[in-house]
Amino acid sequence: MSKKQFKTESKRLLDLMINSIYTNKEIFLRELISNASDALDKRHYLSLTDSKYASEKPLEINLSVDKENRTLTISDNGIGMNKSELENNLGTIAHSGSLDFKDKLESANDIDIIGQFGVGFYSAFMVAKKIDVISKTVDGETNKWSSTGEDGYSIEPADKQEVGTDIVLYLRDDTEQDNYSEYLDKYTIESLVKKYSDYVRYPIVMLVEKSIPDEEKEGEYKTVEELKTLNTMVPLWRRDKKDITDEEYNSFYKSQFSDYNEPLEKIHYSIEGNVSYKALLYIPSKAPYNFYSKDYQPGLQLYSKGVFIMKDAKGLLPDYYYFVKGLIDTDDVNLNISREILQQDSQLQTLSKSISKKIKSTLVNMLTKERDKYEDFFKNFGYSLKYGTYEDYGMHKDELIDLLLFYSSKEDKYVTLKEYKERMKEGQNEIYYASGKSIEQIKKLPQIENLLAKDYEVLYFVDDIDEFVAMIVNQYDGKTFKSAQKASLDVEDEKEKETKEKLVEDNKSMLEQMSEALKDKVSEVRISSRLKSHPVCLVAQDNGISMEMEKYLAQIPTDQKAKATKILEINPDHEIFKVLQKVYDKNKDMINQYADLLYQQALLIEGFPIEDPVDFSNKICQLMQQASQM
Ligand code: ADP
Repeated sequence: MSKKQFKTESKRLLDLMINSIYTNKEIFLRELISNASDALDKRHYLSLTDSKYASEKPLEINLSVDKENRTLTISDNGIGMNKSELENNLGTIAHSGSLDFKDKLESANDIDIIGQFGVGFYSAFMVAKKIDVISKTVDGETNKWSSTGEDGYSIEPADKQEVGTDIVLYLRDDTEQDNYSEYLDKYTIESLVKKYSDYVRYPIVMLVEKSIPDEEKEGEYKTVEELKTLNTMVPLWRRDKKDITDEEYNSFYKSQFSDYNEPLEKIHYSIEGNVSYKALLYIPSKAPYNFYSKDYQPGLQLYSKGVFIMKDAKGLLPDYYYFVKGLIDTDDVNLNISREILQQDSQLQTLSKSISKKIKSTLVNMLTKERDKYEDFFKNFGYSLKYGTYEDYGMHKDELIDLLLFYSSKEDKYVTLKEYKERMKEGQNEIYYASGKSIEQIKKLPQIENLLAKDYEVLYFVDDIDEFVAMIVNQYDGKTFKSAQKASLDVEDEKEKETKEKLVEDNKSMLEQMSEALKDKVSEVRISSRLKSHPVCLVAQDNGISMEMEKYLAQIPTDQKAKATKILEINPDHEIFKVLQKVYDKNKDMINQYADLLYQQALLIEGFPIEDPVDFSNKICQLMQQASQM
């Protein structure tokens, strides 16, 4: 029989499993039971509309041990897999399509992988040296998939009585560190089922031994075997909140939503009314590795009257809450509802609104009562909320604006717009912000020098999306957003204005000549009121795009390479200004060269490439030579 090789990335993952030092190996049972339960769900759901899927026997999961042969078998009478499904589902990692996953696999250690990707079926190789999967479909096709992990797998026709799947684990030999024999112990298995899989909706049964009085021998007992259901089967979300432990909530989350991390927050509630439903929602503590890619499957699980309907019902959540995981159980949805209809169903829309309201109030609550936790949340999912504020022409801005955080110059941490507004100085009418690549870089921006010196609070925009948000929101509670890097920033008092007017008047012809010299590059050269220690800076004209947007557009593949209309500002209190005046007095033409150099420097400070580096370098050398001749 020929062996087939695993796909490269699956092989690497398998090696990790086989050599795993992961201490929590017992989770393999939870993973396999969860797969079995999914397979039962699928069969049950299909049987609602097609009788060939119906099962005479009740749907259940059966666990059995064979101490002699050191095997543990997990059986289900679910949907089963045919040959190509065995090949595709077990020969490759489900998530292997993602490039990101492959990259991570190169560098990660096993704990990372088990954590970030939820390795499912493969986790069984942590405890088994060989695995047989015998599976029969409702059409009667029966195959055995077999693998020791290391040297690929084989598939051959097989015999099996009932439709469904048996997973036979040949447990490894015990070592000093690891005792695998414990998975042959029925008490251990029972306690693992209780710990991780108690809520599974199908009976998980196992033959257990029981002592009963022996009718034939007075006073003596005999041992009989009987099938025992190990789990209570009440879905977690249908149980009373006060009877559920954190461990149960967390364990349910991890197994249902393939996350190794504990959730950041759980939201368990039920609503009776216009539309009645129970919900168990979770906010993950870390953004899934593919959250910001197309591979991410958003949506909530949908149940109707306790029956599983579908896995990723998208219409239940608006895009900006796609990070929420969980399930909804409602009696008000038709069992045979299709994905397409689901999007339009008006009951579902009412449901979705109600869910959004609950998520929002949970976030607001966290923001006001558990600030650190909220900041953690925002680090992971803030981008989603910002994007939600911007998309659909700002339609959701009122819903989201108070959930946004921006870095504050004053507090050196993240603040809300409400907090910003409450702290505004007397007479301040605008919300100041500055944009850049990082907080460190923005802190050094010349354009915000004077604002900070005058004790104004400046919000630091580091995400590309931030300026778009400010643009679409336009104002918060009557205060407009104002960029420190745009022309019309006005923070001077009357006296400063007077002084400046006089300066402008006195240096009019020099500034005009400089403007003329740079007329292809900037719309104007002028005296700055935003600089303190820096000689020059660039600012963008108000009614055009910003300099950050110009940079952003330059790096994304679009043929709209729009540019900001720039103004060169000179600091009149800087030594260089006196130099300029002197040069202009002595030799009017030389000012053109100075203007050009200052412009190039301002480009560099702003993080733009200079247009002609060779020319720039030559001009500096010339200037050095001139200085030495003075
Ligand atoms: P995941 O469950 O996250 O998709 P797994 O590696 O655990 O990843 O399983 C891969 C796939 O194999 C499943 O999606 C399912 O299609 C199939 N599978 C696993 N176990 C069973 C089973 N007991 N019955 C039917 N199909 C199964």
